[in-house]
Amino acid sequence: MKLFADRPEPLTVSGTNLEHARSHNRRAVLETIRLNRQLTRAELARLTALTPQTVSNIAAELLDAGMLLAGQPLREGGRGQPAVPLSINPDGAYSIGVQLGHRSLSAVAVDLAGRVRARTERTVLRPAPEQALPLIAAMLGEMRGAAELDWRRLLGVGLVMPGPFGVEGMTSVGPTTLPGWEEVDGAWLSRELGLPVLLEKDATAAAIGERLYGMASSLRNFAYLFIGTGLGAGLFLDGRLYTGGRHNAGEIGHMIVVPGGRVCECGNRGCLERYVSLRALHEELGLGDGALASPDPLAGLPIGPDGERWLERAAAPLAQAVNILECLLDIEAVVIGGLLPPHWLDALVARLHPLPASTRRGDGIRLRLGSAGRDVMALGAAALPIFDEFNPQYEVLLKNGRR
Ligand SMILES: [Zn+2]
Repeated sequence: MKLFADRPEPLTVSGTNLEHARSHNRRAVLETIRLNRQLTRAELARLTALTPQTVSNIAAELLDAGMLLAGQPLREGGRGQPAVPLSINPDGAYSIGVQLGHRSLSAVAVDLAGRVRARTERTVLRPAPEQALPLIAAMLGEMRGAAELDWRRLLGVGLVMPGPFGVEGMTSVGPTTLPGWEEVDGAWLSRELGLPVLLEKDATAAAIGERLYGMASSLRNFAYLFIGTGLGAGLFLDGRLYTGGRHNAGEIGHMIVVPGGRVCECGNRGCLERYVSLRALHEELGLGDGALASPDPLAGLPIGPDGERWLERAAAPLAQAVNILECLLDIEAVVIGGLLPPHWLDALVARLHPLPASTRRGDGIRLRLGSAGRDVMALGAAALPIFDEFNPQYEVLLKNGRR
């Protein structure tokens, strides 16, 4: 995965000049600089649609707090102020991304530029909150001891796990969800860990990671289909994450694509994730649900006749889902990624062509392969505290300035 994608056009994040939206504007400035690597105040004002005065105030505040670096002035002599390029100070702030899966718990410490500065991992077996929390605390301690980071500049922790959240009959039913997490929220986790914690679904975090660091950085409208134990989608619409009224937008795993089809734990028949998910693949291979808890049984496994049969059965429902997403959302592309090993993912995407007609024309760029799965997710998790405009830790850093 590349930290910065090659892109022909500068990327924009719109701001607003309302006084009460200062924190939103700060995020817009930080994200726009990060997406474009280096910008002058004038360029920032143009790209964010903020006034030069607002940009100037925010830049001064962020420079003061050590979150931005000022480069060499771009021209000397002449009239007026020389243009000073601003860039992100990687050591201006840090965040932690934690990814909780069915059989692994991994954590990365990321700097403000999105670079991974420390990582650690544990093998788990579908842990309940009371088992996972001490492990997470120990992993944070381990990274704190190993990395040369100023932990006073830590913005918080982003935790990602399989969705959906808080939906009766879907949240804690069946082997694709994690048991015991129905009532858990960010506030409780924050109290337990003593750090701000933001909770997000794996598909949404993967979409954030792909938008910030991956091949979707140039896309303003896309859906990220995350093939995990189940199936979910993260949605970026008009350049913004869309999470829905109760944070369950994109839970397409329980969209009925085969009326009268396979029974699903949610009570319906023919749900999409009964055909397109690791669990569906394991079933086809005769591995059963026990495989979800073992080390990846697909790694290095060639696609045999059973695998071909799964691809055949998964392709039509998945192509239908792509068609629905395109027609419903008018998106530029559907990105497909997740926990399938790359050779399986390639084979699945190859089977989707030719795609059914939709409001999108052409074929080739309608589908894109996501970057490497796990890193995108953990990076997306780590991005949650950095891009949370209401994160109180920002105010602490701004108030204290450089230390
Ligand atoms: Zn279902």
